[in-house]
Amino acid sequence: MLISIIVPCYNEYSSLPYFREEILKVMELIEGYEFECIFVDDGSKDKTLDLLKEYHEKNEVFQYISFARNFGKESAIYAGLKYANGDLVVIMDADLQDPPSLLQEMITYIEDGYDSVATRRVSRKGEPLIRSFFARMFYKIMNKISDCDIVDGARDFRLMTRKMVNVILSMNEVNRFSKGIFGWIGFKTKWIEYENVERVAGETKWSFWKLFKYSLEGIVAFSVIPLQVASLLGLFISLVSFIFIIIIVTRTMIYGDPVSGWPSTICIIMMMGGIQLLCIGILGQYMSKVYLETKNRPIFIEKESSIDDI
Ligand code: UDP
Ligand code: MG
Repeated sequence: MLISIIVPCYNEYSSLPYFREEILKVMELIEGYEFECIFVDDGSKDKTLDLLKEYHEKNEVFQYISFARNFGKESAIYAGLKYANGDLVVIMDADLQDPPSLLQEMITYIEDGYDSVATRRVSRKGEPLIRSFFARMFYKIMNKISDCDIVDGARDFRLMTRKMVNVILSMNEVNRFSKGIFGWIGFKTKWIEYENVERVAGETKWSFWKLFKYSLEGIVAFSVIPLQVASLLGLFISLVSFIFIIIIVTRTMIYGDPVSGWPSTICIIMMMGGIQLLCIGILGQYMSKVYLETKNRPIFIEKESSIDDI
């Protein structure tokens, strides 16, 4: 049995040496399995690629794929899955926030018959409070409005069987949201929990704004509820205004029409304008995704790799 370890790397020059040391230890410890470790260099601007080449030269277990530019972690995961040959495949961050030492335990669950072993962190120690708050909100909303069950604190750190990997690869959508995809396809999944570990070196690649956009992407990719909300809002406002019309017309007929109510008119116009723009915006979000999907552009572009073409 071969296990493929996929590691997305974007400017991870400072954390890779720690990762390599740790993963070598783990690979040695686990018996009965062979390993390949595929690093996906997501267009790093530092010397990550040089380091990966060096690792490959020293040890054939380490392979690399390098992108033509930064395509994002989602694309890196997809590329890794595509190149992986393993009967089991695991995705892991390069910063040791996904402890490789958990791998042994994860494998035992696969042996017990699970199709996938997923991880979640139960604490968010060392993370800005505001970020934790929004993350929690996101998971709550996502679970309510979509078909995929994503638990709070879910990581991309996941061990999967070949069967599941093939299903994921068959979903070749351009707007990828892996956590959603994992949850959407189902399969028997075992969740294991661990305390948050802080990044070993370097800095996080996710600004608050980037995360915010990513969460919107996840919602648009896995739910059409916002579109329904837009229609319902329209229906509700139409109803309310209909009632208002009846009241105002009757009142005018009974009491005449003194010129007043300019401020209220402006308020209503402003509110209507706002709601209309919001709804058009929601529509636009979905349309832009349709637009990108129809272009059918590749999910990643490879510049070079140590693995023979597939
Ligand atoms: N990453 C990537 N492409 C990107 C951003 C991040 O491949 O555009 C990788 C990064 O190298 C790391 C993993 O994704 O291995 C998680 O990134 P990071 O640790 O910065 O995110 P955080 O753990 O803070 O959410
Ligand atoms: Mg990290």
